[in-house]
Formats: sequence, C-alpha cells, structure tokens
Amino acid sequence: MLSFFGRETFAKATAPLGRALVGTGLTPDAVTLIGTVASITAAVTLFPTGHLFWGTLLIWLFVMFDMLDGAMARARGGGTKYGAVLDATCDRIADGAIFGGLAWWAVYHENNRWLFAATLVVLVTSQVISYAKARAEASGLSADGGLIERPDRLVIVLVGAGLTGIAGHWGIEWLTWAVHVAMWTLAVLSIVTVFQRVLAVRNSPGAREIIPPAAKASSGDSR
Ligand code: MG
Repeated sequence: MLSFFGRETFAKATAPLGRALVGTGLTPDAVTLIGTVASITAAVTLFPTGHLFWGTLLIWLFVMFDMLDGAMARARGGGTKYGAVLDATCDRIADGAIFGGLAWWAVYHENNRWLFAATLVVLVTSQVISYAKARAEASGLSADGGLIERPDRLVIVLVGAGLTGIAGHWGIEWLTWAVHVAMWTLAVLSIVTVFQRVLAVRNSPGAREIIPPAAKASSGDSR
C-alpha cells in the first residue's frame, strides 16, 4: 500500500543522504549488510527480552539505514543485479529476525499462545508474499501490489511493538494491546495479500498457457 504512493517521494528524500554515503567510500552492498546485521542483532536481543520500545527504535533506525542502499546505487549511476538479490535476501532475513524475536517474546515473556500464533502467520506469509512475486517474475509473470508489502509490514509491526513498549514504560494498561492488534491486523491482511498475489499471477498474460514438456524440466520444481 505505502510503496504504491511512497516510492518516488522516498527516492527524492533519500537522494542527498545516498550521495553523502557514497562520499564516505561505503558501497551500497556494504550498507545492505551493515543495516541487516544491525537490525537482526537488535531484533533477536531486544525483542525476546521484552525491550519492545528500544528494540523498535533501533530496528527502525537500522531498517531506514538499510533502505539507503538504493539511494546510493542511484547516486553511483545504477545498482547491480547482485546488489538487488543481496538486498532482497537480506530483507527476508531481517523480517525473519523481527517476527522471530517477537514470537520468542510472545511465548517466553508473555506466555501468550494467540499472539504467538498471529506472529507465526505473519512470519510465514511475509516470506511467501515476497517469494510469490520473485517466483512469478522468474517465470516472466507479475505479482505486484497487494495490501501488505514490506514498508506496510514494517510500519504496522513497529508502531504496534513501539506503542506496547511505551505502555510498559509508563504503565498504560490499555495500550499494552497495541502489538496484539498490530499482529492480528498484519496476519489477516497478509493472508489476503497472498491470495491477491496468486490471483495477480493467474491474471498475468500467458500465465495459464501450457508449457511444452521439453521446457518443463527446468521450470523450477525443486525449489
Ligand atoms: Mg536494503
């Protein structure tokens, strides 16, 4: 949803930062790796131990840093295919760490099975949403759009976790539910998105044409 109207604005806003980072001698791939390792570290240490507010703040910072790789690539005149694959792979690992960290917290800190269940649904669907698009594109089809893409997912989970963290700090009882609301909202909307993506593939031109047997062997069944 967000990326639909935010991508252009984001690219414009981050262009000066991208140029500045290129000036430091860092490469876009290094920024991808640094941002990812930092956000994973924050997610698997602060979330499981119940530091939702600080976890949210740091993850937000590192995720924003990681998003500058694109701006840097543009400042250097373009990115590489390797950079794009590395970036997408790192995004999946960071998402896994964020929802894995939250799942751990839900079980061992909160002892809440329902929150754990919602978090697992989001953990799996976040990967499937991304995979469906990548796999579709590998077949020359498109699976764009849908309700929940990565920016939406991050905004919803981090606002929810951050508010619950604030509730914990200041003892605001009703606000402790924020992360529950966020995770269930994400779980439901992400399931809808999986259907949206599969439908988008189904409606792609040529999606349901028969593939001749000779070409079938390399169609990627073993993934
Ligand atoms: Mg990135």
